[in-house]
Amino acid sequence: MKEIYIETAKEGLQRQGYKLTGPRLAIIRYLAGEKGHPDIRQIFTRIRSEHPGIGIATVYRTVDLLLELGFLRAITIKKNQLRYEVNWPGDHHHHLVCKGCGRVIEFGSCNFQLISKEIEKVTRFRIEEHILEAYGLCHDCLPGKQHYSTEKM
Ligand SMILES: [Zn+2]
Ligand SMILES: [Zn+2]
Repeated sequence: MKEIYIETAKEGLQRQGYKLTGPRLAIIRYLAGEKGHPDIRQIFTRIRSEHPGIGIATVYRTVDLLLELGFLRAITIKKNQLRYEVNWPGDHHHHLVCKGCGRVIEFGSCNFQLISKEIEKVTRFRIEEHILEAYGLCHDCLPGKQHYSTEKM
């Protein structure tokens, strides 16, 4: 999966006329293997350890480019504060964002598809994708640590 993603992203860049520079490849490789949701600073720190000459502007531009080409997804933490993850084909999941510590938790169950057909019928609009992020407090940040079930969704 990871190698296929890397190859597809490389082809995508080349097809759009972008050169496969070392830093671009390093960013793609790092994100393909990343399980979390890093922000620009984290990506920059990681890539700089391999490519000491790289500037944060290059990281910004590359990440923007990968977003534009559909290889990445951005998660909004707060206004102007984004985290990134690989946009795996066919992967459907959403995020819970903790307003306390900024942790991002993935969840896969979503009922939107159940109602989307009805919405399409009523509005005569063809829905191609949807974004759902929920904001709140994680278990560690809850005051008094109210107990919620941690059963896997
Ligand atoms: Zn938290
Ligand atoms: Zn969904």
